[in-house]
Amino acid sequence: MGTILVTGGAGYIGSHVVLKLAERGEDVVVLDNLSTGFRSAVLHGDLMIGDTADRHLVSKLLEARRVDAVMHFAAHIVVPESVEQPLKYYRNNTCATGSLLECCIESGVRHFVFSSTAAVYGIPATGRAGEDAPTEPINPYGTSKLVSEWMLRDAARVSSLDYVALRYFNVAGADFAGRIGQSTPNATHLVKVACEHVVGKRDHVPVFGNDYDTPDGTCVRDYVHVEDLAAAHLDALDYLRQGGGSATLNCGYGRGFSVHEVLGAVRRVSGETLNVVPAPRRPGDPPQLVAVAERIRDLLGWTPRHDDLEEIVSSALAWERRLLSGPMT
Ligand code: UDP
Repeated sequence: MGTILVTGGAGYIGSHVVLKLAERGEDVVVLDNLSTGFRSAVLHGDLMIGDTADRHLVSKLLEARRVDAVMHFAAHIVVPESVEQPLKYYRNNTCATGSLLECCIESGVRHFVFSSTAAVYGIPATGRAGEDAPTEPINPYGTSKLVSEWMLRDAARVSSLDYVALRYFNVAGADFAGRIGQSTPNATHLVKVACEHVVGKRDHVPVFGNDYDTPDGTCVRDYVHVEDLAAAHLDALDYLRQGGGSATLNCGYGRGFSVHEVLGAVRRVSGETLNVVPAPRRPGDPPQLVAVAERIRDLLGWTPRHDDLEEIVSSALAWERRLLSGPMT
């Protein structure tokens, strides 16, 4: 087996994937510019500090380490920020992916696993999205990833590179051994925000909109444990190594929870009452976004092991408590 290049491997999801690759004894090199990632989150392999868009660096790395598979996580991921600074997202997410793909094809990389997002669906008519649902993103983050998917599709057609693009739903939770977790300051994701409130880092949890056309008026999402999501990447790599053809797959459990249901789980797990404050709707939020998620099970044999909201919350909360003892470096 050749070396695996993991871009963004010092970030939240990438670092969990690197740990799983370590458990299998894979040869890993991480490329991360540490703009939002942490050196100390890379618990395996070699860390190169640099930018995915740096062609010279990337080409040298691919050749020197004889990389034959790339897992590409490096990206900006904050939806509201993408609305305010769209070109930052197109540059860092779309243009950088194009540049990385060119380097990969030039160096003969065979397998590419791409971090995509359910945000490519925009507002699905029924609230559920299968892979063939229309892709009509409603924010630049989603568009930046969708265009990357198209580049990947078109480049794979005319090269020997094959790929799996995983469209993530709402990723949350942390490593059960407590070694890594979501560490970004000023996080905007619900589970993290609620856990920060429980440990005293925030004085309240805002609920963005309570008049949506959903059962309790708050938005519904498909929350996936980061451990299961990480496992899906290894399944994708195995599939490609065994000769599987390129595919774009949802990665979600296929069931949704509202904001109030998530906060209920946080209350039960923590035993704390929460200061929940109604707030206006947040721009770019679809009312309901839940995966139709059979294809990934059929094609990759992905078997989720942590489809349990309380398990997601308890691991996220344990990590938040660990962060109290000192920030990541
Ligand atoms: N949300 C909320 N309060 C928060 C953070 C998020 O009410 O402090 C809501 C948000 O409006 C959305 C859902 O929780 O309806 C999930 O948002 P998150 O940012 O976690 O993920 P997204 O679905 O935007 O990727």
